[in-house]
Amino acid sequence: MFSYRHAFHAGNHADVLKHTVLVSALQYMTEKDAALTVIDTHGGAGLYRLDGDYASTSGEADTGIRCLVDGPFSAQNTALAVKQAAAKPAPEAAAKPLTPALQSYLDQIRSFNSGNSLKVYPGSPFIIQRLLRSHDRLKVFELHPTDARSLDGNIAQLEAGRQVAVLREDGFEGVKKFLPPPARRALLLCDPSYEIKTDYLRVQDLIADCLKRFATGTYAVWYPIIPRPEAHDLPKRLKTMANKAGKAWLHATLTVKSGKAGSGLPASGMFLINPPFTLKAILKEALPQMVELMGQDRGAGFTLDSGG
Ligand code: SAM
Repeated sequence: MFSYRHAFHAGNHADVLKHTVLVSALQYMTEKDAALTVIDTHGGAGLYRLDGDYASTSGEADTGIRCLVDGPFSAQNTALAVKQAAAKPAPEAAAKPLTPALQSYLDQIRSFNSGNSLKVYPGSPFIIQRLLRSHDRLKVFELHPTDARSLDGNIAQLEAGRQVAVLREDGFEGVKKFLPPPARRALLLCDPSYEIKTDYLRVQDLIADCLKRFATGTYAVWYPIIPRPEAHDLPKRLKTMANKAGKAWLHATLTVKSGKAGSGLPASGMFLINPPFTLKAILKEALPQMVELMGQDRGAGFTLDSGG
């Protein structure tokens, strides 16, 4: 069975990128009255404690979402920087207001916390559910027995009834029964752990199959940028697939540090097919600020491309 637990990574830079895209896409897609079906192929546990053992051990939220609250990475993460920050006014970047997309994302996360604390981090199923209307539907898949049990319990507390279905099934296979959706409007988030090398190929096959079943759905794929041929090839293959199908696509990447072996995930990307047409402009504004706030060294940067 898998060893990946999202609790170690909740609120890291990859979650900031992925969940900012998710919030912006959902805000746009719920403007139209017609019911929306959202499919989360890899849901995780749903809710995470940032002050719990997992997150404290990894400290990943400190270099992710906490930089949006406390200011740029360098101003908080080294002992020297902390001393300097105390001795002189915070750097200009820390005082700058967040761009609307980052502010909306942070507001969503904050709405799960009381006051100014940031102890709880909602995963994708909870972020999605919060943004849905009563007639929209969410289908969430999770295969890890422990995380699926947590997700079930966490979702039950929402008392969302038929609005949310948790499925302890393989997300790559299970989506098929939900496409095309009843009101012919869907957003699919595909966010595997990529623990198994074959996940990259399965993502590609899944999106190809989804496009056949429901060509106008919005498909959002998160992937890690790591020195592995499969990871490098995935966005290229998705782009070729979208171009061949004559579909619009949007590709955003965020790098927070140079990729030194063993130093944690340096970068990740989001590839969307049939993205909301507003998303490119939103990310064009938000990505530089993500770099400014979460960038850790000179290797930090972003890319934003589109086509179709
Ligand atoms: N989407 C979540 C979020 O943004 O909060 C995080 C998901 S985490 C990156 C990936 C999850 O997929 C893990 O909890 C893992 O147990 C689960 N998983 C792995 N393979 C799966 C599969 N074939 N079907 C469904 N879930 C799977």
